Amino acid sequence: MTLSGKRAVITGSNSGIGLGVAEALAAAGAEVVLNSFTDRPEDHDMARDLGARHGVVARYIAADMSKGAECRALIEKAGGCDILVNNAGIQFVSPVEDFPVEKWDAILAINLSSAFHTTAAALPGMKAKGWGRIVNVASAHGLTASPFKSAYVAAKHGVLGLTKTVALEVAGQGITCNAICPGYVLTPLVEAQIPDQMKAHKMDRETVIREVMLDRQPSRQFATVEQIGGTAVYLCSSSADQVTGTSISVDGGWTAL
Ligand code: NAD
Repeated sequence: MTLSGKRAVITGSNSGIGLGVAEALAAAGAEVVLNSFTDRPEDHDMARDLGARHGVVARYIAADMSKGAECRALIEKAGGCDILVNNAGIQFVSPVEDFPVEKWDAILAINLSSAFHTTAAALPGMKAKGWGRIVNVASAHGLTASPFKSAYVAAKHGVLGLTKTVALEVAGQGITCNAICPGYVLTPLVEAQIPDQMKAHKMDRETVIREVMLDRQPSRQFATVEQIGGTAVYLCSSSADQVTGTSISVDGGWTAL
């Protein structure tokens, strides 16, 4: 399987799942554009090292996915893309009546609206080439709910709605749009929510991991960034040419329950 000659933009890819997806796409031969909102020398070094490891061109472009204009500018600065992975995301845990409005707005902007903006910016180039792959990183929380995660759950359900709608709009034009719904993956995002979960559920760290997180996954194991990356590569391959408007769960059986 080769993605050589394809340029992939992966939003929110200087850590966690986004970085894992960038690694997997680069290993499959794609040119990759990494992104986050920071613009530090180490971000650019990370991209250069990744490219050198896989023998592909890899760049880092800073853009804040909470701002629509920056989402669209990312695609323009990248020179367009054949593969778009909408992965940037944040999380916040609070009972709905105490949920800070600025957190609600930020979660909806970064986890959902950014995908609308990047998709709108990327589609004209994909249509001109008659080929494109859009992969939205949603979540098991796009299919189910959890207490204290109202904004995240609402945003991820929205991502699945956007995925299906875009797939229908571009069907038959060589462009597919799908989502990946990971269960728990032990990334910085999940590490950061453990203290809030401890407070919300009045549990210690090990109990939160066991009773709140892995209890939902019949496999009793975290998924890995490599497994999400492999799923993204599959969705970009010719084997998936007729796979569109759907989602693949990588959740150890969570949503089968
Ligand atoms: P992470 O914190 O490691 O990665 C999030 C990425 O988004 C980082 O690169 C971060 O810099 C970037 N980001 C945050 N705010 C941004 C902004 N304003 N502009 C640009 N980039 C920004 O977490 P992760 O777990 O790898 O999350 C990646 C995606 O996977 C998210 O959409 C998340 O909702 C989803 N997801 C994660 C899990 C999990 O268990 N880790 C499960 C399901 C879905």
